[in-house]
Amino acid sequence: MQSIPLYSLITLLLICSGCAVNPVTGQQDLVLLSEQDEIALGRQSHQQVLQQYDVYDNKELQRYVQDTGAKIAGKSHRNNLIYRFTVLDSKDINAFALPGGYIYITRGLLAYLKSEAELAAVLGHEIGHVTARHSVRQYSAVQLANIGATLGSILIPGMNQPMTNQLVQVFGTALLRGYGREHELEADGLGAEYLARNGYDPEAMLDVIRALKSQEQFETQLAQAEGREPNIYHGLFSTHPDNDTRLQEVITRARKLKAAVPNAYSGQGQFMHLVDNMIYGDSPHDGIVRGRRFFHADLGFTISFPQGWNVRNLPDSLILVAPNGEALQQLSVEDINERIPPRQFMAQRLGLANLSREGAVNIHGLDAYTGIAVINTDFGRRPARFNVIYFNNQAYILAGITKNPDAIGLFDPAFQETANSFHSMTPNEQVLAMPLRLKIMQTEESTNFRQLASQSPLEHNAEQLLRLLNGKFPEGEPHPGELIKIVQ
Ligand SMILES: [Zn+2]
Repeated sequence: MQSIPLYSLITLLLICSGCAVNPVTGQQDLVLLSEQDEIALGRQSHQQVLQQYDVYDNKELQRYVQDTGAKIAGKSHRNNLIYRFTVLDSKDINAFALPGGYIYITRGLLAYLKSEAELAAVLGHEIGHVTARHSVRQYSAVQLANIGATLGSILIPGMNQPMTNQLVQVFGTALLRGYGREHELEADGLGAEYLARNGYDPEAMLDVIRALKSQEQFETQLAQAEGREPNIYHGLFSTHPDNDTRLQEVITRARKLKAAVPNAYSGQGQFMHLVDNMIYGDSPHDGIVRGRRFFHADLGFTISFPQGWNVRNLPDSLILVAPNGEALQQLSVEDINERIPPRQFMAQRLGLANLSREGAVNIHGLDAYTGIAVINTDFGRRPARFNVIYFNNQAYILAGITKNPDAIGLFDPAFQETANSFHSMTPNEQVLAMPLRLKIMQTEESTNFRQLASQSPLEHNAEQLLRLLNGKFPEGEPHPGELIKIVQ
């Protein structure tokens, strides 16, 4: 959660048409942008990506990813382009390419890789999208987040748009996910070919596919149980099942290429060295969830939420969802510009003139005002509980609505309990707001994932997560002397 302007890449759509030679197939393609238009589109979109995501703050790691990517791209079908690779500070598992050679990988995805060869495989896949010019064909895959779909939008008064629109904007870039089955398979094949051309084992492509497929299976189960949208790599694997014949062809081709690389370089030690100490999961910049508490180190506050509720930490707000999507709370923050009391802020800035069950409150020494207002949503007008809490010259606005408008009374105590938990972080809590980090260790004879999990700060499913991070899902154990990643 941070204050940044959000823009949508969706608006930047491609209208140009004409004929061009496809660099990969050598054949004429219809309806492509000219190369100049494509590059300009990429350059422009790159600025928007940087407005939406933070770049991960580790120069050495950025350089390593850039050098690895540039090496692969230098032996690709479009080595006339200058490629730029950026590690994004996001826990999401994603990589994507913009037209013209701008390529991104999240630290969330890096955590699942085990070697430079696997990194090269992901970058090679994305380079494949660029060289085969997939990006100029498809940009429309936009999908609403689960919460938007189940609850409809909240129109927070004073904000210009319903929440569903904000969600589309937030996820617009992240949902540059996948180009459809044909193109994904083609990118896999090209990636494997580029691995071989650079002296890496092309089978690293298959290791990445396996690792991400395991992650997807696990995450999908978990998300189903928690009633939320799964956090998975750009939709690739849902498009081709294990027994898919085209995937088998890619595998067969990769294995043939392997014969051409007798002494393949894996770069495992170097890769592990560079991801050692990398932030895992929530970033302190965006706020960190621990158990039922949310900590925001940069803004200096913490808030707790009711048992069983799910948390979605979006760039501009924190969303709390009750089990089965029965209710939702949104916490957002705005500057206070005039010395006015919270009640007046609600009237002037949020347009909340008429309130019921209202009153001034003191929340852990902070000025606040609470009341129920009737607001517009996708499903018509309904009551919502508002709390406005003043802290450090900013107004924290907590809004709660229910799926069934008659249930407001039922959920109101939970809304109030959440508001009342808001406070400035204590020194002890500042320690809790520190992020988790990957740690590389060499295993001993006795090392096993159950024992590592018992000492792990990971709160849920530690054993399975550690296996996933190390390519050992669902039952594998490390070999003695192996380099593995743990979370500290
Ligand atoms: Zn792809």
